[in-house]
Amino acid sequence: MNATADFRSDTVTQPTEGMRAAMAAAPLGDDVFADDPSVNALQEKIAAMLGFEAALFMPTGTQSNLCGILAHCQRGDEYIVGQLAHTYRWEGGGAAVLGSVQPQPLSHQPDGTLALADIEAAIKPDDAHFAKTRLLTLENTWGGKLLPFAYVQAATALAASKGLSRHLDGARLFNAATAQAAQNGTDVYAEARAIAACFDSTSVCFSKGLGAPIGSALCGGRDFIARAHRIRKMAGGGLRQAGMLAAAASYALDHQVVRLGEDHALALRLAEGLRGIQGLEVEAPQTNIVFVDLVGAARERSNALQDHLKAQGVLITGLYRLRFVTHLDVDAAAVDRAVASVRSFFAA
Ligand SMILES: *Cc1c(COP(=O)(O)O)cnc(C)c1O
Repeated sequence: MNATADFRSDTVTQPTEGMRAAMAAAPLGDDVFADDPSVNALQEKIAAMLGFEAALFMPTGTQSNLCGILAHCQRGDEYIVGQLAHTYRWEGGGAAVLGSVQPQPLSHQPDGTLALADIEAAIKPDDAHFAKTRLLTLENTWGGKLLPFAYVQAATALAASKGLSRHLDGARLFNAATAQAAQNGTDVYAEARAIAACFDSTSVCFSKGLGAPIGSALCGGRDFIARAHRIRKMAGGGLRQAGMLAAAASYALDHQVVRLGEDHALALRLAEGLRGIQGLEVEAPQTNIVFVDLVGAARERSNALQDHLKAQGVLITGLYRLRFVTHLDVDAAAVDRAVASVRSFFAA
């Protein structure tokens, strides 16, 4: 039996030998005293890479988004957000629970965007009846989809023209930048910077496709990051010798951003392999996530399919739709094995 082929998420990766060596060699200090040279170096690196004044290392993307929203908004303010965005749907309602900041969720268009007309209509006039609309948050990639860059520019310009701040949940910003760079024949870091330049703040995860064991960064202006730093402490996110983790993230930025295109190619290979199976509708992947819907009679067979795959050592998730995520620790052989397992299920 081969090792497990784990397509549940790009968070399941193990640190590579090179990353482990970088972690072991990292100089350390107490980051609550701002004394950890490896954390400081990472913060400077990611801020410069994305064109911001400052950055803050965070244990998770959820804490990073929370500190970002609370650094932009006061009690009684609201943020405009996608109905299925992580910062609304998947963070336990943290901004409302911990910050008394109200979300104003909007339905997504099929391409993942929030319609400009919907954003504009959701911005409340200054009237005592309403929460104060303070912030627009976008997510890129969203559900594995690259938001069109012209849209990102237009939506963030609209927000700015109405006096709103703009926050990007860029958990997979470098996947977005990789896809955008492939479209434009440009450099991934330049595209990441171009996307981030549309926002006042950006959160980026190191623990997804970049392959670090833990960590995110919140990037923004110096005053904004100072406010977020206070909120991070309040949220219990003041870490001590975090440099071992920051060194992993630094290593990922230097060595593992440039390989994300391999994950995208594997997602395409997987989608191609699954195409044409009766009962499956495969969404063409734009980055490293393949969504598959079971249709017709197959709709009832989601759990049976997942059990069949699991018995063959192929792990996926299927909360709403079947989801296969490619990453550092799956290769073409694993993809082909997943395809063969799905085919054998439907052949039986
Ligand atoms: C994973 C993810 C986050 C952060 O998740 P954590 O598990 O808290 O690190 C935020 N936004 C999106 C879109 C994500 O996919």
